[in-house]
Amino acid sequence: MSLHRDDPIVAIATPAGRGGIGVVRLSLGSWSGLAIAQRFIAKLCGKRDDFALEPRRGSLVAIGAADATVIDRGIALYFAAPHSYTGEDVLELQVHGGPVVLQMIVARSLELASSLVSADASANIAAMPFATMRLAQPGEFTERAFLNDKLDLAQAEAVADLIEASSEAAVLGAQASLSGAFSKAIEVLADQLIELRALVEATLDFPEEEIDFLEQSDARGRLARVREAFRALFERARQGALLREGLTVVLIGRPNVGKSSLLNALAEAEVAIVTPIAGTTRDRVEETVRLEGIALRIVDTAGIREFGALGDTVDDAADAHAVERIGIARTWDAIAKAHVVLHLVDAASIDAGIDPAFEGANREDEAIAARLPAHAARRTIVNKIDLTGDQPHIEGAPASDDDALDFRIYLSAKTGEGLDLLRRELLAIAGYQPSSETGFLARERHLAALRATQSHLDAASAHADQGDRMLELFAEDLRLAQRELSRITGEFTADDLLGEIFGKFCIGK
Ligand code: GDP
Repeated sequence: MSLHRDDPIVAIATPAGRGGIGVVRLSLGSWSGLAIAQRFIAKLCGKRDDFALEPRRGSLVAIGAADATVIDRGIALYFAAPHSYTGEDVLELQVHGGPVVLQMIVARSLELASSLVSADASANIAAMPFATMRLAQPGEFTERAFLNDKLDLAQAEAVADLIEASSEAAVLGAQASLSGAFSKAIEVLADQLIELRALVEATLDFPEEEIDFLEQSDARGRLARVREAFRALFERARQGALLREGLTVVLIGRPNVGKSSLLNALAEAEVAIVTPIAGTTRDRVEETVRLEGIALRIVDTAGIREFGALGDTVDDAADAHAVERIGIARTWDAIAKAHVVLHLVDAASIDAGIDPAFEGANREDEAIAARLPAHAARRTIVNKIDLTGDQPHIEGAPASDDDALDFRIYLSAKTGEGLDLLRRELLAIAGYQPSSETGFLARERHLAALRATQSHLDAASAHADQGDRMLELFAEDLRLAQRELSRITGEFTADDLLGEIFGKFCIGK
């Protein structure tokens, strides 16, 4: 079945299960504003044919089955196009929240709609909007809001992020994007780029008037100001993305250095959202803890050591229970996505002058090292200081050095001394700034576009530094930067990207 973007659609908008109230939502697509829409609503709500619901007013209605028996009584809210969520005529029916009640109302809507279409078809083919009603796809209401210019793409994505938000900070970030603040900031920058570009292109069109354009027009100064504003925007988006995506922290090190103890210590000190993966030999290989609203997914690699390091040997491990195998696969997956690697060593071995350098340690460690992303930040954790009498402290390179195995945090997973130093360091790696403005709850897609924008702006700056002979390239860089920015709000968006974005929404949203 091919799905049209203006078919009338219906879906249950509240979550599956029983509740005090359930909502069935309908968006009437190509019927909006036509007599058939009014007839449909009147009939569904058990009213006379000439009855019209007042827009934006709750009305008590009795939703009737085809034989005029009542399925349920509830409140109908009608929003006339274009003043609705989707921009089309929208009807929301608040009824009792039982799954069967809701399904019966959806079924009744579909049946009634198709009977109206066939009645109309026989009465007046020319005036008949052929589309009949169908079930909504996931995210289709919001997709229509996007297609009808009620929301831009970044705002539409923020709808899903708000629903999925798992911390207060994430809610505020999603709301900042949904309100359009993120899109507005992007538009302002894009406009500045367009202005600058227009200036450059006018010069290119009239080369005879070109007298040291870059100097005369303050193009470099303008570009510098755009880049400055861009950096601030990027930072807010990065902060927001952090709230959405969190950090994956992988614990590595030899057996018995205290990886599981550290995992537990971090989890138990926080009011943890525990995600234990059941296993026969280990209780937990992964925990999610929250620091300042940022989700840290902490992964212990000990399971890999127990069941063989390499992907293919996992299957061979005859004694590896299926659940363990799933746990190990997840651990590999986490390793490949690690943002931070904590290499644990025993304080006693440091005291004994043993080099904690990780590379080349053994087969498992090498296999893990090979899968770690190049940009993952690395830190050495010197554990068990309660045994050596060391004080909790930090030694070595600054936090900005992303490959800092010499950067050592001395702590004790057992007593908890030094855990605060580690937490603070993790937040620093995450780029967390306690007093910063609310982040925009950006997605990886947005960050990718922002990174691309940044590289075009860098190129623009480099070309500007080479003087007027590079003006054409300068203009092209500006054009590319502006195009990348516009991808975020969806000005240039391929259909398959839309499918991917809206397909991840829940039904009824
Ligand atoms: P893993 O194999 O790296 O996961 O290490 P475990 O967390 O299982 O710890 C191995 C042993 O070291 C256990 O007996 C722990 O109680 C002990 N241990 C872990 N951390 C500390 C610590 O900070 N101080 C002391 N004294 N013992 C610790």
